[in-house]
Amino acid sequence: MIYTKGLKKSFGKLNVLNGIDSHIEKGEVVCVIGPSGSGKSTFLRCLNLLEEPTEGQVIFEGNDITAPKTDIAKVRQKMGMVFQQFNLFNNMTILDNITVGPIRVKGLSKEAAEAKAFELLDRVGLREKAGSYPRELSGGQKQRIAIVRALAMDPDVMLFDEPTSALDPEMVGEVLDVMKALAKEGMTMVIVTHEMGFAKEVGDRVFFIDQGIILEEGTPDEIFNHPKNQRTQDFLSKVL
Ligand code: ADP
Ligand code: MG
Repeated sequence: MIYTKGLKKSFGKLNVLNGIDSHIEKGEVVCVIGPSGSGKSTFLRCLNLLEEPTEGQVIFEGNDITAPKTDIAKVRQKMGMVFQQFNLFNNMTILDNITVGPIRVKGLSKEAAEAKAFELLDRVGLREKAGSYPRELSGGQKQRIAIVRALAMDPDVMLFDEPTSALDPEMVGEVLDVMKALAKEGMTMVIVTHEMGFAKEVGDRVFFIDQGIILEEGTPDEIFNHPKNQRTQDFLSKVL
């Protein structure tokens, strides 16, 4: 579903991604781990062109989306993104947060968009929050809404950037449960996470990113139980 070839990203003189070759298959759950500042968010943001790669290619569903003629808006419709800080529209109700994209970008009727929104709200148990504003929700509820908002666009892949890092501990589980359910349904997911237990349980593959490259990748068993690289071992010894 996604390939990257020699992906590089620099900010001025700072080389953040130093050549990432990767592939993400349809239906796969890839968890991305690594030290703070190693380029995990930048990698994710390059996949949907929130950051423009400096060099290299991103091939999405067979198309080189780093080519100049790419319709970036179209690509982003197919790639849902969930951020650490939720990024909901604070001046809109929950229902409007969910329906604004489908109505404005995909041209759905209000009725169709709302029907879909309620169906998704039911799936995360938040139908009764449709008329509320983001400030009236807990962090865990906001993040479940952010996931629903992304799903309302019918994406082919979901990108998550530390979706539980801003949450109080007691709310982490409710968000991870929604993500687990999505994984079970076969959604293709790329998840930057510090939740090693989740990565072990739900991940099909794990990328360990360090200093802007994938230093090691493998199944959760390979990465967590038999890491080959010393730097992977050092990182895991600190977080496990
Ligand atoms: P991670 O998500 O692994 O913590 P990031 O991808 O956020 O790492 O950042 C990697 C490095 O790139 C950091 O040194 C960060 O300060 C830098 N960086 C990220 N985004 C920008 C930006 N927009 N401008 C300048 N530097 C950036
Ligand atoms: Mg980050």
